[in-house]
Parts: sequence; structure tokens; C-alpha cells
Amino acid sequence: MSDYNILLLAGDGIGPEITGEAVKVLEAVGRKFGHTFSFTEALIGGIAIDETGTPLPGKTLALVKTSDAVLLGAVGGPKWDTTDPTKMRPEQGLLALRKDMKVFANVRPVKAYKQLLNASTLKDEVIKDVDLVIVRELIGGIYFGEKKRTSTSATDTCDYDIDQIDDILKFAYLIAKGRRKKITSVDKANVLETSRLWRERAKTILELDKSIQYDNMLVDNCAMQLIRNPAQFDVIVTENMFGDILSDEAAMLTGSIGMLSSGSFGSEKPALFEPIHGSAPDIAGKNIANPLGTISSCALMLRSSFELDEEADAIEKAIEAALEKGYRTLDIMESNKTRVLTAEMGDLISEEI
Ligand code: NAD
Repeated sequence: MSDYNILLLAGDGIGPEITGEAVKVLEAVGRKFGHTFSFTEALIGGIAIDETGTPLPGKTLALVKTSDAVLLGAVGGPKWDTTDPTKMRPEQGLLALRKDMKVFANVRPVKAYKQLLNASTLKDEVIKDVDLVIVRELIGGIYFGEKKRTSTSATDTCDYDIDQIDDILKFAYLIAKGRRKKITSVDKANVLETSRLWRERAKTILELDKSIQYDNMLVDNCAMQLIRNPAQFDVIVTENMFGDILSDEAAMLTGSIGMLSSGSFGSEKPALFEPIHGSAPDIAGKNIANPLGTISSCALMLRSSFELDEEADAIEKAIEAALEKGYRTLDIMESNKTRVLTAEMGDLISEEI
């Protein structure tokens, strides 16, 4: 029995709806297993710009330091969309948060739920054995490099140093060692200098342990292979932007982007947990978003930050049970299934627990 202090950053769009359901589920876990989860709410993203003039207020950053884990919904939306480089954007808050927390490794598990094989746009024989993890470098590369803009040109710089590359490769190696021992390092070494350095480091680090099967793949081929034969992958390790794009693609192997969880880790605590999708402004406020990606991010939190394996299993089993009984949010709805709203899905998972 323990107390855990969770910082809740609901953010924008569907963020408050999906994190609300995650809180419900964690409270159910607390009741069943005798833990206390305390939630402190703070601002990030567009709502933070509106209320404080900045997408990541100092007060939020101070609260991160005193929390055991951070749970984030999503940030962004049309209200704050701008192409003016002098204007603040909600996404700057998220990038700054990840940088400040030094969470360099973003882990995105992708597993096909047998109950959802028909919800995917791909054939079930292609996706039925999918069980892979994308390990994305999160605080380097083109998202954080120097940017320039004149009236007639624009530049984004992709920067990586050896330490950053080594850290993420070693992190991914440890994950692969605990799984099926296969790791695919994804780059664009035929064109990009950063990728050539990445490939050299991958060879140096990943070839050391002969029990690991390691190969390199160009990112364009990887994008194709994820659709052609996704079951070939165990752990994919890649840089920031490639990982961002490939994991959205991989989400469709599970039927919906609303299903996928993620955890971001550094060498210090706390870690950051969030679904992989954005703020989905097209469906915000309608109580139709799928909260399961956020709820399974809580399972990831319990297992990896608090070592509460049984509790994490309880969440994952509850998700499977609700799907098995035929409950579906709109994004994964099929004929002969029972359509439920966001809040109803949260209630169902809590009841299962
Ligand atoms: P998005 O992920 O928000 O939405 C893409 C599509 O997936 C939409 O059709 C949306 O309705 C659907 N979708 C997403 N989450 C869903 C869920 N839980 N249940 C059901 N359907 C879901 O991506 P976008 O539309 O490209 O971006 C919208 C905003 O989110 C932008 O401002 C973008 O910058 C921001 N964004 C934020 C994050 C983040 O906070 N981590 C990530 C990606 C995009």
C-alpha cells in the first residue's frame, strides 16, 4: 500500500476527456489494491497560453519536480495554429516539457488486440501476430535543432551527438534483451549525415551482444515493411522525427490511434506518460474519443515507474475484457458491437478492475 503523487496535464482538445477517464481507472486500481493516487492538475499547451501567456508555465515545471509521474493528455488545436514564427504554439510547451524532464527515450508498444483485428484497415493475417515496440529518441534531432526563417526561405537543423545516439541505442538494447532479442535500427543513412553517425554507433553498440539479432533499415523501407509484414519487428529504434511518423503509422495496426500508449523516460524520475495521438480537435467535447491509449499509458506508468506489475496487469486485462464483451468507442466500432461514449468506456474499465 503506497501513496503516489501524479501530475495531471490534461492540455487541449480531447485531453481533459481522456485524462478524466484515466483518473477514474487509477482510482479504481487504488480502491482494489489499497493505494492512494493523488492528482495535481497543471497547465500546458494552448490553455496555458490563454491563461498565463506561455505554453509551459514555471508553476507546471515546478510541480513536475515534486511528482512521482506525469500523465499528459494532448496539446494543440486550430485556435492556436499559426505559421508566424514569432507567435507561441501549444506544441512548444510539450517539447520544452520533454526537454526539461530530460526524457530522451519514448517507448511506444504496438500490439494487435485479437478483439480488434477487424477494426484495422489491414487484413487480419497481416496484423494478428504484431507485437512490437518503437523506441523513439525524444529530445534531439530536427525538432530541437536551430530554426531560421526569412521572407523567402526556412531552415530546420537536424543535430545529433554521439552521447545522445548512444543513450537511446543502449536503452532500446535493454528493451530488446527483455523481449524477443531482435532490434531494427531505422535511419536514412543513404542521404543524411546524422543517420550515417547513427548507423556507425548502432553497429558499435548493438553488435557487441551476439545474442541480439540486429539490423539496419532505411526509414522509407521501414514505413513500407510496417504495412507489408509488421510481425517481423520486435524493437524498432529510431530518431525523433522518424519515430513520430512511424508510430502513427504503426497505430493503424491496432485499429486506431486512440489505442496506443507511450512512456518517456530519462535517467532521472519522474517519467512522462501520454497517448500517442494529438488533441483531436475534430472530435473534442463530444465524449466520443477513445480513452484506451491514455488508460493503457497508466498501466505502463504503474509497471515501469511504480513497479506495480499486478496492478498494471489488472488494467490491461480490464481493457481486453471490455473489448471481449464487445464495447467499442466510435473509432473502433464494427457492426454487432456495442457503441459506448468516452466516459462509458472509462466506467467499464473501472468496473472490470
Ligand atoms: P490527432 O492525433 O489529434 O488526430 C488525428 C486523427 O485521429 C483525427 O481524426 C482524430 O479525431 C483521431 N483521433 C486522435 N485521437 C483519437 C482518440 N483518442 N479517439 C478517437 N480518435 C482519435 O492529430 P492531428 O489532427 O494531426 O493534430 C491535432 C492537434 O494535435 C494539432 O494541434 C497537433 O499539433 C496536435 N498534436 C499533439 C500531440 C501531443 O500532444 N502529443 C501529438 C500529435 C499532434
